[in-house]
Amino acid sequence: MQSVLRGIPASPGIVVGPVHLLRWEVPEVKHRLIDDAQIPDEIHRLHDAFDRARDRLRLLRTRAEAQAGPKEAAIFDVQVSILDDPQLALSVEALIRQNLGADKAFDLVLLEWRQNFARHVAPMIRERVGDLTDVHIRVLSMLMGLPDHDPVDVPRGSNTILVTHDLTPSLTLQLDRECIGAIATDAGTATAHVAILARSLGLPAVVGLRNALRYLKGGELAILNGADGTLMIAPSDAEVTQARDAVAEEEGHAGELRELAHSEPLTRDAVRIVVRANVDIPEESEVGALSGAEGVGLMRTEFLVVGRTAMPDEDEQYAAYRRVLEAFAGKPVVIRTFDIGGDKLPVGGFPAEANPFLGWRAIRMCLDESAMFKAQLRALMRAGVHGDLRIMLPLVVTVDEVRETRQLMLECVEELAALRVPFRDDLPLGVMVETPAAAIAADTLVRDVDFFSIGSNDLVQYTLAVDRGNANLAPRFTPFHPAVLRLIAQVQSTGAAHDIDVCVCGEMASQPLAVFALLGLGIRQLSVAPRAVAGVKRVIRGIRMSAASEAALAAMACGTAREAETLLRRRLRAELDRHDSSAAGLPSLF
Ligand code: PEP
Ligand code: MG
Repeated sequence: MQSVLRGIPASPGIVVGPVHLLRWEVPEVKHRLIDDAQIPDEIHRLHDAFDRARDRLRLLRTRAEAQAGPKEAAIFDVQVSILDDPQLALSVEALIRQNLGADKAFDLVLLEWRQNFARHVAPMIRERVGDLTDVHIRVLSMLMGLPDHDPVDVPRGSNTILVTHDLTPSLTLQLDRECIGAIATDAGTATAHVAILARSLGLPAVVGLRNALRYLKGGELAILNGADGTLMIAPSDAEVTQARDAVAEEEGHAGELRELAHSEPLTRDAVRIVVRANVDIPEESEVGALSGAEGVGLMRTEFLVVGRTAMPDEDEQYAAYRRVLEAFAGKPVVIRTFDIGGDKLPVGGFPAEANPFLGWRAIRMCLDESAMFKAQLRALMRAGVHGDLRIMLPLVVTVDEVRETRQLMLECVEELAALRVPFRDDLPLGVMVETPAAAIAADTLVRDVDFFSIGSNDLVQYTLAVDRGNANLAPRFTPFHPAVLRLIAQVQSTGAAHDIDVCVCGEMASQPLAVFALLGLGIRQLSVAPRAVAGVKRVIRGIRMSAASEAALAAMACGTAREAETLLRRRLRAELDRHDSSAAGLPSLF
């Protein structure tokens, strides 16, 4: 039966392909008692499931090594080693000998192991919980004869649309891009990290569908439209043709959009704006460097960590940062120190927290784990000799965090000098302004920092008390709330008063309407998704700053986000209608 499921646009692009359901969750297992006579057969079944799980993991390992590299592939070695642990088989066999069915026996042992690991004092053991969970799901699915939800058998080139409840950033990074053409999730919002990563990887995505898993069986033909946030199930032939025509039309505009992306970001009244790119993984830097952006305004280094079994060491980090600097050949590259925590965790994660977004994350964790942090700071100082590198600290709420970081940087200077390796000891140090505390008290930071960068994703989350990843709250998550607009204006004026650059690097900087508002609020630097550069420059080049300022003032005085957004949309449309003749024929910005 044909239907259209509506979600949240997360990453643009239209894909026509079959649906593949990924249910990566521990299945419910019924309590089943067996006769003494069945015990040998059940033990045999257990070992057979272990063998099949090992085969599957080796296959995944080979593929991951070819596509992502040996470090990423190591996750699968860890899981094989869990299966090879003789204690695991012995514990499950002991329960089977007490007349429990193999599936329930395995389930109970894994539950116990996961609990013990999660409570362990050693972080390295706690980090294994995620691997245990994967082994738990994989072996149980085999024992219970459940449909194979692992996307390993998806044929190459099939343009499959992966539908799942939620994707962790690590699973997103592991996806086989040769067969997965798009992703759709029931959970998530446009600023959840799965959406940010999908945009980085150029994978069309719709998130926040809420009920897709319940509705779909798997195998249906579907059309995913990442720009309007829809998943059309069982489309007619005419709709498939229309979707393919739309893809061809988008490709047809590629030349004009490329030209726009490389044009100068000057407003109609000749105000020069700086447009930089957000780069989330080093592999993106060469493509990012061709996007028309003048350098990198935000590199999220935690994506070097998620999905990995161990932290990257100093040398590996140095190589990654150097790669980005060299790709951007002398242009400014702002590299943010690890923002681990919240929904961005290495494999296995850290101890569960009741409120991870208010918890031990970002600069808080880095300052507590100073050996890890200093390895990153040393890697950055060494990479700094290869270009214009600037360091940025995430989630700062107090100037003490900046001062403690500077103290650690001094220690790093001594350590590097003793090693006689080339490094820079004068790298600019800036902070993300992404909490109301940092925004309201920005003046308390000015003497200790070299620049500000507004992280609107977290600023909206913390100002409006709306979880950025919760699909149920998506309509309430908006940068147009007057409180958010006023905070941005305040940071901008504090920066201007103290001669400190203020950039905006959250997702709002990639949205045409929000760009109009930001310029009006006085923002002159934006860092945007590489694919958004053309659209952002189109707004910049199509407007007068005077019109943007008037609109932003009026938006800040509105009573609600909806009023502010409607007002801005009306004014931007009027402004573009007056001036944006060069964009005739291009897709609408609204
Ligand atoms: C932000 O919060 O706006 C930001 C850019 O950082 P992240 O999305 O990685 O939290
Ligand atoms: Mg943030």
